[in-house]
Amino acid sequence: MTLDDIKNQIDEAKTVVVLTHENPDGDAMGCALAMYNALKQLNKEVDVIIPEFSRCFNFLPGVPEIKKEGKNEYDLAIAVDCSDTKRLNGFVDYFENAKVKVEIDHHGVNTMFADYNYVDPVSPACAQILVKVLPYWDIEITKEIGTCLLTGIITDTGGFKYSGVTSETFEFAAWLLQKGVNVSNVYRNVLQTVTRSSFELNRIAMNRLQFYENGKIAFTYITKEDEQSVKAETGDYEGIVDVGRDVEGVEVSIFLRELENGGYKVSLRSNDYVNVSDICLMFGGGGHIKAAGCTISNGTLENVRDKLIAQTKMYLK
Ligand code: AMP
Ligand code: MN
Ligand code: MN
Repeated sequence: MTLDDIKNQIDEAKTVVVLTHENPDGDAMGCALAMYNALKQLNKEVDVIIPEFSRCFNFLPGVPEIKKEGKNEYDLAIAVDCSDTKRLNGFVDYFENAKVKVEIDHHGVNTMFADYNYVDPVSPACAQILVKVLPYWDIEITKEIGTCLLTGIITDTGGFKYSGVTSETFEFAAWLLQKGVNVSNVYRNVLQTVTRSSFELNRIAMNRLQFYENGKIAFTYITKEDEQSVKAETGDYEGIVDVGRDVEGVEVSIFLRELENGGYKVSLRSNDYVNVSDICLMFGGGGHIKAAGCTISNGTLENVRDKLIAQTKMYLK
């Protein structure tokens, strides 16, 4: 079985690198740091490489040890919460150069890019997979590892409210609480507290929000200038897409973020029946049924908006 094979590879490896997707969310950060702390427990020489992340994750155990660059070659590379090598943007070489490649993920659109792929698309968070996998490998879920894992679960389920939540999600959360994890602390850090810059970006995006198709589509955006004007940092744009999604009658919320080198990062969210992952796949991206993204490199803001709205329209009832 894949999990036993992966454990054998871990046992044989001396040096390991842990990676996750670019623009890491709480699940990416939580899984990468849980894996890092778990491998430390096994006395591995392990590097976790995450070039940029939001400072809202600074409370996570292991953050001070995160590296921006690593060694040329590792015995083993483990990617978590990542559907595609394209999303290891900028640090894919660490993965490709490793002697053995492993991935653990929960995206339905996963491309099975490693030598060993453990993918469970039913799991609402990659962290929920690790809650089972680590004990299966006889790794103790300490309070530190539990804090990382609960962070992944809480962020990817929107605080236990998305439709992907299973009864196991609550069982695991209860179990992690028994390990001493402080749920309200995690919740406050990753879901409640926003930086001032993030607040200002939300305000700008909210003022610009437009509705289309009888209010079934919400659309908004932020530009590079907006980010400069509020001194935005990595992650300050997270969550803006939810503003439109939460308005009554909206089925799909679209959010565009202008990228440094041109083009737009697209985030799509749906409420009920539209599969936004299908829409993003058409633009070379992907994600989950109700939360997906892609990058569109060509076209003006208006072009990109019109293209996305035209595609989305076809999925509306
Ligand atoms: P985001 O809108 O960036 O928060 O992403 C929502 C979901 O879609 C997450 O699960 C991401 O991993 C996934 N996703 C975002 N952008 C891409 C992309 N370019 N390719 C594949 N999956 C993506
Ligand atoms: Mn993620
Ligand atoms: Mn995830």
